[in-house]
Amino acid sequence: MNVHEFQAKQLFAQFGVPVPRGKEITSPEAAAAWASELNTPVFVVKAQIHAGGRGKAGGVKITKEKGAVAGIAKELIGKTLITHQTGPKGRKVHRLLLEEGANIAKELYLSILVDRDTGWPTFIASTEGGMEIEEVAEKTPEKIIKEAIDPAVGFQGHNGRNVAFALGLQAMEPAVINPFVQMLGNLYRLFMEKHAALVEINPLIITKEKTLVALDGKVSFDDNGVFKHDDVQKMRDLNEEDPLEIEATANNLNYVKLDGNIGCMVNGAGLAMATMDVIKLAGSEPANFLDVGGGATKDTVAAGFRILLKDPNVKGIFINIFGGIVRCERIAHGVIEAAKEVKITVPLVVRLQGTNADEGRKLLAESGLKLEVANDLWEAAQKIVKLTGKAA
Ligand code: GDP
Ligand code: MN
Repeated sequence: MNVHEFQAKQLFAQFGVPVPRGKEITSPEAAAAWASELNTPVFVVKAQIHAGGRGKAGGVKITKEKGAVAGIAKELIGKTLITHQTGPKGRKVHRLLLEEGANIAKELYLSILVDRDTGWPTFIASTEGGMEIEEVAEKTPEKIIKEAIDPAVGFQGHNGRNVAFALGLQAMEPAVINPFVQMLGNLYRLFMEKHAALVEINPLIITKEKTLVALDGKVSFDDNGVFKHDDVQKMRDLNEEDPLEIEATANNLNYVKLDGNIGCMVNGAGLAMATMDVIKLAGSEPANFLDVGGGATKDTVAAGFRILLKDPNVKGIFINIFGGIVRCERIAHGVIEAAKEVKITVPLVVRLQGTNADEGRKLLAESGLKLEVANDLWEAAQKIVKLTGKAA
């Protein structure tokens, strides 16, 4: 789960990480009122969407005129921002962050995430702040600093000093070394206590006044840990989430929307991954990941169909079930019942294997439904790819 920059900064403040004075704003009137209260030489108005690259897309405006703030807010609220992270459709801006401007002397990059190789929380830092970190990693990998934290020991001062010296802070601005080490300790606490998946500050700035300030903030949370944190749950903004994913969550389905045209319904996450691979291998692209779980019922299958068919990109559906815990004839009944409730308008290929697969296939074949039954995964994938045509 992702949150907005203003919410990330609320968490930063709570954990002792310095941020500019600022507030979430949803109307030009509120912007004008807060601008008066802020009383700062420079105002920064920032569109709040769950995507980066706002600066380049016109979503970050800076002004010295208090009187201009309301006008900027009016212009940004309701605007659709297209950044390299939003996709071509962009994202509509519903809220802004209005904060005091900072005097930037140097922009750094800092984040903490779990390194997949070691399984340890790991700081990533770079002197190339304000830029796309992916680009830095690709073009100048030597500029990426990593410091892994042994979770059994926790964050130690030397971890922070390692990063500080690798960045060259002693040459850049020695006054910020101690606050920097302290900041890393605070970010580590935030990361661990709130079950975050990523905490990122880009840019982290050294100001002309020789202080450190988190000028941008991104926090995403491990979805499996969110239930432990009421405050984090309250930060959820459904405006920013895919409506189909929201509906899937409400039906206890594990669904992730993708860009292809073959809708997949599979039991088990591993099999769902394999199904997407095999669709690609057969020359097309999956429209989604959908795990209906081991205990799939008629209702879950029906909910799955509804969600798949609401995606206008779906040109065919591939149901791939391995009957282990769940029996195939039950799934077949589920598919038949669901098809009665939800009109299926695209080609459908069903592959059943495992417990009572023969019975399940027989039921489907005799159901009168327009579908193709397959025994073998590869055969099934080729069938659905043929029926839907190549992905664009
Ligand atoms: P992003 O483009 O979505 O990552 O948004 P950021 O919050 O990183 O803002 C983009 C850029 O705006 C930053 O890299 C800064 O260069 C600039 N910026 C943001 N806040 C301030 C500020 O207070 N003062 C100045 N001078 N520049 C700022
Ligand atoms: Mn940024």
